[in-house]
Amino acid sequence: MELQSGQKIDTDLVILSIGIKSNSQLAKDAGLEVNQRGGIVVDDYMKTSDASIYALGDAIEVVDFNDKTKTMVPLAGPANKQGRIVANNIAGMKETYKGTQGTSIAKVFDLAVANTGHNEKTLKRNGKVYGKDYKTIIIHSKSHAGYYPGAMPMTLKLIYDMNGKIIGAQGVGHDGVDKRIDVIATALRYGGTIYDLKDLELAYAPPFGSAKDPVNMLGFVAENVLSGKVNMFTGTNWMILMKKKQSFLMFVKTLKENWAILKGLITSLLMSFVKERASLIRIKTLLFTVPLA
Ligand SMILES: Cc1cc2nc3c(=O)[nH]c(=O)nc-3n(C[C@H](O)[C@H](O)[C@H](O)COP(=O)(O)OP(=O)(O)OC[C@H]3O[C@@H](n4cnc5c(N)ncnc54)[C@H](O)[C@@H]3O)c2cc1C
Repeated sequence: MELQSGQKIDTDLVILSIGIKSNSQLAKDAGLEVNQRGGIVVDDYMKTSDASIYALGDAIEVVDFNDKTKTMVPLAGPANKQGRIVANNIAGMKETYKGTQGTSIAKVFDLAVANTGHNEKTLKRNGKVYGKDYKTIIIHSKSHAGYYPGAMPMTLKLIYDMNGKIIGAQGVGHDGVDKRIDVIATALRYGGTIYDLKDLELAYAPPFGSAKDPVNMLGFVAENVLSGKVNMFTGTNWMILMKKKQSFLMFVKTLKENWAILKGLITSLLMSFVKERASLIRIKTLLFTVPLA
């Protein structure tokens, strides 16, 4: 492959990860109000600045359901719902669009990657501060009961405010990510909290889920963190510690390993680490995580 610069790259696979830019030239030419990104400005009834013209879909500016700011979200679900609203309003009804929360999913090779609501990157961009405005937890669950064949691992991240209100969630895994994100998306839509996730009664039989569904587990873990029972160590915590120049050692092992061997290993590792690096690195925290399944 040859780049514009003339550089040649020998590769088997090229992935184009590109965004989209809506073409609203028609609207501009018609004199309709557009935002800085060219998004057509509409009111709650999907009416443009010209009362006889409605607009919908990728080309319009929408209300971000999560924080009520203005944004543009190119997704088929919102576009189709807006289509129904526009058709009904043209037919004389008075329907409003309530905003787009950004629920989405993509298949990346064998993995499903899904989102609903705001992610941490968006929160930070909006000036929100971890631990002050929001908290996050990450869990690693199975798609269904572990003892039933075919259970696949999934990772779910939940973001919630300091009162437990759900702000967003992301998930990645092979199977069952879609339904977990959809359940959380529904809870978020109705102002749900981590306590609601804990209480949700979801369909369970071994081939389909777990008696404590990953969505329930998110609620349990988030409650433990918010009530101060446990501290969760996340990538964000890592970054904070790194900035403070505090060093720590992370050690991950499966439960299949003998507990005593594990302890011995840690002790010797720690000792050699301390001996060799004591003058250079101060060990502030020792994090020891053991996956339970
Ligand atoms: C490759 C791809 C995959 C996608 N996958 C997903 C997905 O999995 N999930 C999801 O939610 N979204 C997905 N999307 C986004 C989704 O397709 C869009 O959000 C949705 O189609 C937007 O609907 P729309 O009516 O605004 O625009 P469109 O569906 O693009 O319709 C606009 C129409 O207007 C026509 N048009 C444009 N200019 C003019 C003109 N001057 N005169 C007359 N006609 C004109 C176009 O030809 C087109 O038919 C995907 C998009 C792409 C490109």
